[in-house]
Amino acid sequence: MSTQQRRIAVIGAGAAGMSAVHTLATSAQSIAGDLHVTLFEADNRLGGKLLTSPFAGHPAIDEGPDAFLARLPWGTALAKAVGLGDQLVAPTSGKAAVWWDALHPIPEGLLLGMPTDVFKLAKSKLLTWGGKFRAATEPFRRRTSLADDSLGGYVRTRFGDQVHLRLVDPLVGSIYAADTDHFSLAAVPQIYDLASKARSVLIAGRKMPKPSPAAGPIFYAPSGGMGSLIQATADAARAHGAELRTGTPVSTIERGAGGVGWLVDGEAFDALVIACPAKAAALLLADVATETASTLAQIPAADVAMVSLAIHEADWPAHLRGMSGYLVPKPMQRLVTAASFGSQKWSHWQVGDHVILRISLGRDGLPVLHLSDEQLLTAAVEEVGHHIGLTLEPIHARVSRWPGAFPQYRPHHAERLAAAEGQLPVGLALAGASYHGIGVPACIRSGKSAAERLTGQLFPVAD
Ligand SMILES: Cc1cc2nc3c(=O)[nH]c(=O)nc-3n(C[C@H](O)[C@H](O)[C@H](O)COP(=O)(O)OP(=O)(O)OC[C@H]3O[C@@H](n4cnc5c(N)ncnc54)[C@H](O)[C@@H]3O)c2cc1C
Repeated sequence: MSTQQRRIAVIGAGAAGMSAVHTLATSAQSIAGDLHVTLFEADNRLGGKLLTSPFAGHPAIDEGPDAFLARLPWGTALAKAVGLGDQLVAPTSGKAAVWWDALHPIPEGLLLGMPTDVFKLAKSKLLTWGGKFRAATEPFRRRTSLADDSLGGYVRTRFGDQVHLRLVDPLVGSIYAADTDHFSLAAVPQIYDLASKARSVLIAGRKMPKPSPAAGPIFYAPSGGMGSLIQATADAARAHGAELRTGTPVSTIERGAGGVGWLVDGEAFDALVIACPAKAAALLLADVATETASTLAQIPAADVAMVSLAIHEADWPAHLRGMSGYLVPKPMQRLVTAASFGSQKWSHWQVGDHVILRISLGRDGLPVLHLSDEQLLTAAVEEVGHHIGLTLEPIHARVSRWPGAFPQYRPHHAERLAAAEGQLPVGLALAGASYHGIGVPACIRSGKSAAERLTGQLFPVAD
């Protein structure tokens, strides 16, 4: 250990903050005793949106995310690093549907809802013949300018309103609780990359390699739920000397004495990872990084509610067996935006003689958290019952409320953020869903890279 041990604080214990803590605690500097990491979490538990709890006799049903993308490396890498590699499970191959007056299987050959094969689209009854014809004219259209950075605008221009409203908006909207007319195209890299390289999606789609089963599952989840990833990460970080404080909201960040380092509620640190949502980060940065704070304060976030239900298996209709769930497009929505048939999606959730459903309510532009738990439950039961043609009589029900659940990346989010991050003083780094990706793997990556940036500043490598 060198004479002066450096201290880094991480503020916020969601996926991003816990990833930062793990990266710092397991770094060479920490192992050598040159670095100490302290986590501050406002809540009485770790995990932020990663929350798993018992439900309907099952020990571990997620209240927030139930999986992460396996084809981005960071979620899987963290799970393996904290000893959960052999507990990762993949969803069953159940098919999903879109509800447009009836359940329609999602057509094959889509890229986040955009058709890449017009013949496969033609077989679907989700679009009218007029809508399919409009989509089929896409190769004859001029290159679409990406200047307005609107996902909805791009898809409507290329494929028409039906592809947008019945496919892309529900698919992407359900991932980000977004209204894609107000969402940045550049924030959806699978579509943006194609849009920036190719004039026509359908022509480029023909050349795209078909997904190979050898590539492995698309999603993974730890069998103990997403909360077990947080628990294992916390255990690993503590084993490496990290100090994790819950029930400790940070109120102020100030410059340290003589402008050196930082004070977190008066306690001195050399550097800080700020891994709380943008609005909370803006409050903390108001006096020390004013310009950055004012940009962060303007990043909106959509509230959602998640209603979990357990239904008697005997009451569950045969035609829904084997399905993973369905999405509800904007024009058809009241409050429910999607329903996941959890125990059909995850075989390890099949406990007892019931089917577990997870129903999402609310999105950007569709507020729901002014409603009571009872009203949210009633809405979920009535709307899903109507969609699937069944009077739902849940034997267990749970309502999980998620204020500020999903940051909304408005058009040109990336440019505004680059400017805001560029104005951050040395010794501060941002991490979390508000910035460079909303999904769990992106949050894990952001925590890791914030931690690495700060250790690089504190322990520069000599040339
Ligand atoms: C219902 C739901 C379903 C989802 N489904 C999926 C999915 O299936 N797959 C997927 O990849 N993603 C999913 N997501 C998105 C993903 O879960 C989140 O984007 C991600 O977990 C956010 O992580 P984070 O670390 O950025 O923030 P958070 O989890 O919000 O953590 C931030 C933490 O900061 C703390 N904090 C705030 N202010 C302070 C302060 N002043 N001092 C100290 N602490 C503070 C908060 O208490 C919180 O614990 C879902 C999200 C929700 C809500």
